[in-house]
Amino acid sequence: MRCPFCQFPDNRVLESRSAESGHSVRRRRECLRCSRRFTTYERIEFVPVVVLKKSGERESFDRSKLLQGIVTACEKTGIPHAQLENMVDEIEAELQQRSIREVSSSEIGDFVLDHLKHLNEVAYIRFASVHRQFKGIRDFIETLDHLQHPADEPESSSPTEQAEETAATETTTETATETTASPSQESNLPSMSHT
Ligand SMILES: [Zn+2]
Repeated sequence: MRCPFCQFPDNRVLESRSAESGHSVRRRRECLRCSRRFTTYERIEFVPVVVLKKSGERESFDRSKLLQGIVTACEKTGIPHAQLENMVDEIEAELQQRSIREVSSSEIGDFVLDHLKHLNEVAYIRFASVHRQFKGIRDFIETLDHLQHPADEPESSSPTEQAEETAATETTTETATETTASPSQESNLPSMSHT
């Protein structure tokens, strides 16, 4: 992070503290050349996720649409609404932290099934019947079989776990916020990539 006054690349951190209700870290820095001080904020990168639908159309990820599908599948199962919201939060975070910005709708469906599998069998079957477009009783039986013999499915290669691995890698963006900073051309940008 270059000093906004003299562009010197090295500085020392005087103070770090949590900001924006824990969603970012605010750091007070001092330039090692001109000794002037400036503030940076570090936060999790948030980039819109694009969903590739079965029809080939693309649309931006819609959280409420996903929640609605899950709520419908979980109707009368007694699962608290807050738990479903949490599930959507988790899936959204998984998608957010992947290195790829595009996800297919069937992949999202698999994420949901992965979560429902551990939550409720009825909800799982209901969601699967819509998501995998069940044609008849045979599809239900096959899915039930699969639920009862999960050993057929190698756990280590599930898309959820892959996403979690990606989430562990550091993707942060820092933004220089000192308003008295030098009027650089970048001042119109909402954030500067921290590389
Ligand atoms: Zn400086």
